[in-house]
Amino acid sequence: MNAQKPYWDEEMEAALPVLQKLENAGFEAVFVGGCVRDVIAGRPITDVDIATSATPDAVMVLFDRTVPTGLQHGTVTVIVNERTYEVTTYRSEAEYEDHRRPAGVAFIAELEGDLLRRDFTINAMALRADGTLVDLYGGLSDLHAGIIRCVGDADERFSEDALRMVRAVRFASTFGYAIAPSAWRALLRNRELLQHVAMERIGAELDKMIGGAGPHRAAALLAASGLLARAKEPLPAGFAQPGCGSRQRPALRSGRGAGGAGGVPPLSSALARLQGKDDRWAAVFLALRLSPEDAEETLQRLRFPGRRIASARSAVKLHDAAAPLAASSGAAATPAAAAAWVDAVLAAGVETASAWLRITREFAASGAQIGGLPLSEAALDALAAQLAGMPCTAIRELAVNGNILCSHLGLKPGPRTGALLNGLLRSVALRETPNEREALLALAEFMEEDRMNDGPYTS
Ligand code: ATP
Ligand code: MG
Repeated sequence: MNAQKPYWDEEMEAALPVLQKLENAGFEAVFVGGCVRDVIAGRPITDVDIATSATPDAVMVLFDRTVPTGLQHGTVTVIVNERTYEVTTYRSEAEYEDHRRPAGVAFIAELEGDLLRRDFTINAMALRADGTLVDLYGGLSDLHAGIIRCVGDADERFSEDALRMVRAVRFASTFGYAIAPSAWRALLRNRELLQHVAMERIGAELDKMIGGAGPHRAAALLAASGLLARAKEPLPAGFAQPGCGSRQRPALRSGRGAGGAGGVPPLSSALARLQGKDDRWAAVFLALRLSPEDAEETLQRLRFPGRRIASARSAVKLHDAAAPLAASSGAAATPAAAAAWVDAVLAAGVETASAWLRITREFAASGAQIGGLPLSEAALDALAAQLAGMPCTAIRELAVNGNILCSHLGLKPGPRTGALLNGLLRSVALRETPNEREALLALAEFMEEDRMNDGPYTS
């Protein structure tokens, strides 16, 4: 920060040549949107967006390296000094179709009109190359007061693009701001329009909320707004309307309306301390007591990638098997509990087991209940120690493989080989047998003999 440019940072300094080049060619160019908001608030800025009076064609002529990323919206990506900048021509969006996208955009010459089309006052400010702030709609005072307020008439803005209602919750929850009463009332009036918005766009906003600084505030605001129950595709009730699920307690509910984004305090701090988004998603599903099927369906409907859906589902599924083992400090110490934990880990995989431990330990440390059972920190520590001490958690880590086993026992490769390998893995994970070739082959022989005699190792 300096006296001439109170709102500035090094990312903007690095992007200055882009503004200057446009200005030298006779156009206007400014930093705009999220980067201006974040630099004023003293937050690190993610990306520097630029708005200009130059048309996309003119931008592409002016810079050596450009990518026509969104020409229909007037956006060209400009690459300067190995950094990329989205340069968007000033535009207005007069008419909207289906409450989700403008019927067409018109390029305009004035910054004022461009700022007017933006969603919230805090997102509708611009910074010129000399550091002057352009704040036509009271964004600075709303930013200082921590208020999410629509530019112009809130009913109009939400009805033009219904996703803005979800964005309001996203900005309020990540920044810890309040939604202006006028915007909140308009949101409640317009919430049915969310049915026009693609599930994928809602999913992307929810993912940013959960990854942000206030996932618990997002949950409280979403519950109070009733927005998710109005989505185009039905989301499981336990997720869309917390408290209504079959096996649910309203753990994430605060019911305190627009500004009161409280949540249950220990739960909220535990959620915010989890680092990964996937851990947070699983934690939310557990706190809401969703079944693995409902967790899966939620993320499927929100168009998450399969890998992320599987990760959340398996953590929620593991909870059913593992939570009873951690419900009291004594339980994990018994041989039966140790065996049950090994079985749960082998079924879920070590990554899921580690994620589940990260989540439940964070919750237990904050004194929050998750999934209906109070978990003991000591028991979770014991499960974590047992996991860390498991010599193997996957068949590929065994000192023998299917071929070795088949040739040693004279078996044909088939389901029996798989069953034997699983039996060996379980025994190694339980530390009953060392992960050594001779010991494993001896155990496999014993298991085969046992099977011939219909013994307990038969599977
Ligand atoms: P972040 O990138 O941190 O999520 P952002 O404010 O930069 O926040 P973007 O989605 O990148 O959000 O959008 C950039 C800018 O474009 C916003 O600051 C806002 O001015 C405008 N904008 C984005 N989406 C909309 C929308 N649906 N309606 C109106 N203006 C929007
Ligand atoms: Mg952005």
